[in-house]
Amino acid sequence: MISNRELFLKNTAQTSDSPRLIEIEKAEGSYLYGPQGQKYLDLVSGFNVSNIGHRHPRVIQAIKDQLEKYLHVTVYGEFVQAPQVQFATKLLENLPDSFGSVYLTNSGAEAVEGSMKIAKKYTGRRQIIAAKNAYHGSTQGALSLIGNAEYHKAYAPLLPEIDFIEYNKLQDLECITEKTAAVFVEAIQGEAGVRVPSVEYMQALRNKCNETGALLIFDEIQTGFGRTGRLFAFEHFGIVPDILMLAKGIGGGMPLGAFVAPKAIMDVIKSNPMLGHITTFGGHPVSCAAALASLNVILEEKLIEKVEQKAALFRKELAHPKIKEIRGLGLMMCLQVENFDQVYNISKYCADNGVMIDWYLHCETALRVAPPLTISEEEIMEACRIIRAAIDKFC
Ligand code: PLP
Repeated sequence: MISNRELFLKNTAQTSDSPRLIEIEKAEGSYLYGPQGQKYLDLVSGFNVSNIGHRHPRVIQAIKDQLEKYLHVTVYGEFVQAPQVQFATKLLENLPDSFGSVYLTNSGAEAVEGSMKIAKKYTGRRQIIAAKNAYHGSTQGALSLIGNAEYHKAYAPLLPEIDFIEYNKLQDLECITEKTAAVFVEAIQGEAGVRVPSVEYMQALRNKCNETGALLIFDEIQTGFGRTGRLFAFEHFGIVPDILMLAKGIGGGMPLGAFVAPKAIMDVIKSNPMLGHITTFGGHPVSCAAALASLNVILEEKLIEKVEQKAALFRKELAHPKIKEIRGLGLMMCLQVENFDQVYNISKYCADNGVMIDWYLHCETALRVAPPLTISEEEIMEACRIIRAAIDKFC
């Protein structure tokens, strides 16, 4: 019989010549399980998705309850679907009052696309500013905002009138003018290797957008839902963006994204032309039911309050002379080493010994550590023991 691994290589599209090819049969809590009894402590969380661990019982129950009622019934924005309404309401209850409307999508890239459109339409301007080394998704619009020439070259021409500034560089804020429709930034740059900007920079960025009338659009697709020790990372900087883009951890393991804006900004998509931004599956009722359960778990189980303490334990246990730096906020961390060979060998050794870590798109010299927020202290100690052994072996 042909194995699933062979069928994967033969019949499903490959995104690189070197997929990790780890087969997963089941996932529960902080662990992934393979078909031959392999057990992996997951420090990647499906790339910042499984913030409350895999298959949280309250999420599974919410999914089952919704399955008994209805699946897809119509395109987004027509029928009143309780899971969408309840989730959007809960989300707004946990955001500053300036946010008044939630548009639900299938993915992060779609949240980016929608945000670009409302920013242009609301301001009547065309120029968009993004940051070098950003990652915002792989659709053509989102790709246009990725500040990495290598990714642009192969797919050019992309969207016009997009300019790039250096992230966290105060002088570059001068590029934002009355011509700028919007500035797109990640609250913390993830794929650049977890670059945390200064509070001073973020406040200056907010002020510059206020002065020029440019909309400040925060990508919290990686940083959202408690990951950094606050529900949203913008809270660390004492500012509020105009538009917030969410995905990944939003759905408790189900596909969902959203962009959230003041009602006056969101309302521009209703007319001229009407139906100018629509989606068939965006805000799928099962995903929204899971998202509401997941948000309730984060809030009611007070997961965010324990993030700092768990991050401190990681930092203590990973204090190693060969780790040059541990960057990050809360449980969005990265371990800086010397080169990609070390990154590759350490991740492989860790996987072979039951710990899943990974790397970053725009930073080849750093290891990704972003466990579920529900990870226990014992699991952290065990994971760090394996990582230290890998560092001893390869650095
Ligand atoms: N923005 C950031 C910061 C991301 O990390 C990602 C995905 O990794 C996206 C946007 C795109 O999200 P999606 O893959 O759901 O389209």
